[in-house]
Amino acid sequence: MGSFDTIRYVDDPKFAVEGKRVLVRVDFNVPMDNNGMITSDVRIREALSTIKLLQKRKAKVVLMSHLGRPTGVGQEPRFSLKTVAVRLAELLKSDVQMMSDCVGDYIKSRSIDLKSGEVMMLENVRFHVRETKHPDDFGKDLARNGDFFVNDAFGSCHRAHGSVTGVAKYLPHAAGLLIRKELEAFGPLLNNPPRPYVAILGGAKVSDKLGVIDAMLDRVNTLMIGGAMAYTFLKTADRPVGKSLVEDDQLKFAHNMFVKAAEEHISLMLPDDHVVAANMDDESAKVVDKIPDGMAAFDIGPKTITKYVKAISTAKAVMLAGPLGVFERERFANGTRAICQALADAHKRGALVVVGGGDSAAAVEKFGFVKNVTHISTGGGASLELLEGKELPGLVALAAPDPK
Ligand code: ADP
Ligand code: MG
Repeated sequence: MGSFDTIRYVDDPKFAVEGKRVLVRVDFNVPMDNNGMITSDVRIREALSTIKLLQKRKAKVVLMSHLGRPTGVGQEPRFSLKTVAVRLAELLKSDVQMMSDCVGDYIKSRSIDLKSGEVMMLENVRFHVRETKHPDDFGKDLARNGDFFVNDAFGSCHRAHGSVTGVAKYLPHAAGLLIRKELEAFGPLLNNPPRPYVAILGGAKVSDKLGVIDAMLDRVNTLMIGGAMAYTFLKTADRPVGKSLVEDDQLKFAHNMFVKAAEEHISLMLPDDHVVAANMDDESAKVVDKIPDGMAAFDIGPKTITKYVKAISTAKAVMLAGPLGVFERERFANGTRAICQALADAHKRGALVVVGGGDSAAAVEKFGFVKNVTHISTGGGASLELLEGKELPGLVALAAPDPK
């Protein structure tokens, strides 16, 4: 991550924003239920430090974000940031002026009319297709709403979009405090981690995490596999998988990972027992060593839990990326809950414990361990790309010099 040494942060005294408009890219892409109610406001809370700092520095604060995946051809009420602005105002304990769009002369004039310390929220940047398709061009339009640009949207840094990379080309820029917090947590895992370093990779698909699995084998001492992706690995190892989720086109990849682990003397651990059922809705779940034909595995079993917890108990650094089972349902939640408890125990004895991946973060929240880990990343995809060792375009844009 040496290339990010040139990133300036928003609290740099030379970043003189008093009385100026600061356009801030936040990640307010919060999960919502079918009624449009926010189900987790973690991402809004995590943005408060930067916003409050700018208010304290007497800047005019102009916030922008995306929410969901609108089609990009105009306003779609269910993707409006209005509800988010209301929640932000509650958390911030100050007014948030909600705008009806994110670009144009009217929005620009409203940004100029702001008083120092006042906060304005622009409407969803993805209501414009140019945000994703013509980032530089759209970034130029967005830049009219600010004198400075701050990016604090860690969860969007893997995207070369107008509000992330485009706008940085037109305004003097700095990174926000959340981005610093994320990089400080991931930094030690990428360069010179405390050892033993144990990673637990789970979740839905091998194919989502190819790069992460491969990159992890270059860094960790132990790699534990759980979740649906375990069954592709088990099938490769000629173990019975019943009708568990298997990605047949990834068997070769899994084989290569076994070879790589053996060559680099890394312990690659797979489940020994499983919680199986006919399907996800089948309530007669049971524990087996061998997955019977016609059954699928939806969680790791108790022997596997004991084995994994033991390996975590001596770790000095632990990374969780992906739940170990279908934790959303109680009968398949034991594996993920036990691993979260092991993470909390590791943290208590001083290990560095980082959680990446959106559903893993939701699991840690659900089981009540938010305060018992070192860091929970707000960026699902962004954290995985960082772990892969990829350069995130949003960070590259921040590391670039200010425009002349
Ligand atoms: P993350 O967002 O943490 O990276 P993923 O998105 O890769 O995680 O995967 C999360 C999903 O994987 C969860 O919704 C969970 O129900 C599902 N899952 C975990 N284990 C299994 C399994 N054995 N079979 C089917 N789905 C699983
Ligand atoms: Mg996910």
